[in-house]
Amino acid sequence: MPEKKDIANKIRAARKKNQQSAIDLFEEIRNGNIASLGKAITLLESTKSDHELIASELVDKCLPVSGNSVRIGISGVPGVGKSSFIESFGSLLTDQGKKLAVLAVDPSSKKSGGSILGDKTRMETLAQNENAFIRPTPAGGSLGGVALKTREAIILCEAAGYDVILIETVGVGQSETAVKSMVDFFLLLMLSGAGDELQGIKRGIMEMADALVITKADGENVHPAKLACRTYKNALHLFPASESGWIPQVLSCSAQEQTGLDEIWEVIKSFENQVKINGFFEEERKRQAVHWMHEAIMEELRSSFYNSDQATVIRQLEEQVQNQKISPKNAAKLAMDKRSNNK
Ligand code: GDP
Repeated sequence: MPEKKDIANKIRAARKKNQQSAIDLFEEIRNGNIASLGKAITLLESTKSDHELIASELVDKCLPVSGNSVRIGISGVPGVGKSSFIESFGSLLTDQGKKLAVLAVDPSSKKSGGSILGDKTRMETLAQNENAFIRPTPAGGSLGGVALKTREAIILCEAAGYDVILIETVGVGQSETAVKSMVDFFLLLMLSGAGDELQGIKRGIMEMADALVITKADGENVHPAKLACRTYKNALHLFPASESGWIPQVLSCSAQEQTGLDEIWEVIKSFENQVKINGFFEEERKRQAVHWMHEAIMEELRSSFYNSDQATVIRQLEEQVQNQKISPKNAAKLAMDKRSNNK
């Protein structure tokens, strides 16, 4: 049997090693080492406990030097032109000397087994650009878990000196809400000519948008794009005023012909200007940080509950619920009681 003192020494040594790893990574990230940034995000996404320890040390170290970017959410149905837009818009920003990070939140990647959003093969030009950092969505886990990791990745990217962070997402509800609560500006890409329902876009998502952008406004599509702009401008008037005091804008662009992109950047800058002056920017970021603390608590509770040794109990209760022997609520109570007794 190893002595208690030996075990304590081992734990202390391991902690020291993790702390050192976090310090090393922090310095490398601050020096703009992209490989180290990639490695750090991999640690964030890992479920191994020593990786988690290093990652959380690192995020805390990065926090004081984070926050200096514009965080932009980009959403829209598959095929609307998200990756083409990010390629063109991103290149415009890097041409202006900005450093751009592209992250993604894709809850469906769990089902498809691969992460499609933020995929480098979809953004070949940007992927070769030394001022751009592209990272696909973290795989697996609940939407809350995936979003939490992405939010921490934002902090790391900011500490690494990225000025603009794009967070791509696709979905028809929850993932947009998660992304909206980690960004400053939410951009919804839309197709002209297809009805909102066809695009699977719910009113609630349009209400979240700080700008709607009609994509593919080129060739024969220029006129329909103009019409769509007018329709959406009218529709947006009917929405309640947003807390930020910002009036959502409707624009069109062509990623292919690289038109309308400058205007979109101008709109984002004028938004930033306005909300920094009226105080909403800072207030919202504070609110978001608190929101993610509560999300993290929920996630922690969920994973400690389900990862505990009560899988069998849960399975038995599931069976009883299916056979209507016990109500879902009472089954949940029993499971909670058993868990507390086992502690
Ligand atoms: P995503 O699924 O939302 O990422 O959409 P993609 O960027 O992959 O684009 C879907 C399709 O639309 C592709 O075939 C693109 O070539 C096309 N597309 C994207 N942007 C434009 C554009 O500005 N003009 C035109 N004409 N086609 C575009």
